[in-house]
Amino acid sequence: MSVQRVISPIDGSVVAERPIATPDQVEAVLRRADAARAAWAATPLVERAAKVELAVQYMLDHADEVGLEMTVQMGRPVGQSPNEIRRGFQERARMMATLAPAALADLPASQKDGFQRFIRREPVGTVLVVAPWNFPYLTSINSIAPALLSGNTVILKHATQTILCAERYSAAFEAAGLPDGVFQHIHADHAAIASMIADPRIGFVAFTGSVEGGHSIQAAAASRFIGTGLELGGKDPSYVRADADLELAIAENVDGAFFNAGQSCCSIERIYVHESVYDDFVDGVRAETLKYVLGDPRDASTSIGPMVTTKAATFVRGQIDEAIARGATAITSEADFAGSRPGTPYVGPTVLVGVDHSMSVMRDESFGPVVGIMKVSGDDEAIALMNDSPYGLSACVWSRDVDAAVAIGDRIETGTWFMNRCDYLDPELAWTGVKDTGHGISLSPLGFDGVTRVKSFHLKLPG
Ligand code: NAP
Repeated sequence: MSVQRVISPIDGSVVAERPIATPDQVEAVLRRADAARAAWAATPLVERAAKVELAVQYMLDHADEVGLEMTVQMGRPVGQSPNEIRRGFQERARMMATLAPAALADLPASQKDGFQRFIRREPVGTVLVVAPWNFPYLTSINSIAPALLSGNTVILKHATQTILCAERYSAAFEAAGLPDGVFQHIHADHAAIASMIADPRIGFVAFTGSVEGGHSIQAAAASRFIGTGLELGGKDPSYVRADADLELAIAENVDGAFFNAGQSCCSIERIYVHESVYDDFVDGVRAETLKYVLGDPRDASTSIGPMVTTKAATFVRGQIDEAIARGATAITSEADFAGSRPGTPYVGPTVLVGVDHSMSVMRDESFGPVVGIMKVSGDDEAIALMNDSPYGLSACVWSRDVDAAVAIGDRIETGTWFMNRCDYLDPELAWTGVKDTGHGISLSPLGFDGVTRVKSFHLKLPG
């Protein structure tokens, strides 16, 4: 029997082991989802929203327990992980419930004598959600909440690293009294996911993960005319202008680069700084970074935990070594952090200067605790460098000039443009990307588009 195993990045221990679904089990899950579809779609929105809220409440009631379970599976410090539930998770679910009535309402056509005409949104059927481990609840609630609110049934396949999060979701929806089959999780391998995507009972696939995974999902969907939401990687840039509030920029860029050991799709991976404030900024970033305490994420004093695997840590260390070999300088390095352990996932947060775009660390997604800082002469150079990337998820500017920020934002190839903020998702705004970051939208009123289809009602009235 094949199994999925959660190996803790803390110490390499096996946290959980689950059998991988057999073809018969996959078929049973699809059948149950399909059987539950019509009744759930016919359930009034207000009742669907009430069930989602009960599940949110369940998660909030168990936030500490869920947080510790997350920590053990993927390594984020326990002082931070319950906040994934207490802040973003509940905020996004509730925002989508708030937006749903208007977003799902009929769209009337103009008044025309003798006719009744409107456009109605319908659920697509069953939505397959494929989620990553790095923010296991935030990334998945982005699709699960709008899918259920719209009247779809949902099947969740979570990352092997965080399979227990899938089970938590099922517990929450069971506690909420969701009818049988409306929400299910499945521990499936990639071949089973491809077979599900090819099945006519799946109406939409919401995938969050790597570019490589996104290509596989798109290929699996190629024989069907269903939608896919592909929220993929990033190499998000930050630009510190001459007129920036430097104290704010230093604190937020460091947090944006190193929160969750840099394993955020929208973490800050490249920083461009105006030459007039460069030295002060670099000094500040060094001092701020040295405050991190790297260690066992179960300790309350730890502020940065291990990366998810030794393989991922080896990739990041390789990028650092390559950059240094090409002339970069590490102003903080592993040697500065007592908790660093070479050859393990415990990587000290590393800040590189003297970098350029010939180096992998400035081009390829690091997804780890490393950031490069480059000096620029002004807006035009910063814009060119920010756009010099295969990705486009988010980007930010640090400035006191709102007009300049909007003008620069118009020239940046990105899904989200921030001023004086980064590494954040506002659930009232669309979360999307350009280039290799994928396609599709989650959150905001537009986050209902993928999980619904429209039907036009064109009624010629009697007489
Ligand atoms: P990943 O390897 O692509 O895995 C993500 C999820 O997809 C997991 O559930 C994984 O299952 C599944 N998966 C991967 N390849 C698949 C395939 N061929 N067929 C079916 N399922 C497949 O990504 P990751 O390394 O865990 O996550 C990190 C990446 O996600 C980064 O690139 C990050 O930027 C991106 N990300 C993007 C966003 C966004 O909003 N744009 C948010 C978070 C993360 P298994 O674990 O079982 O392989």
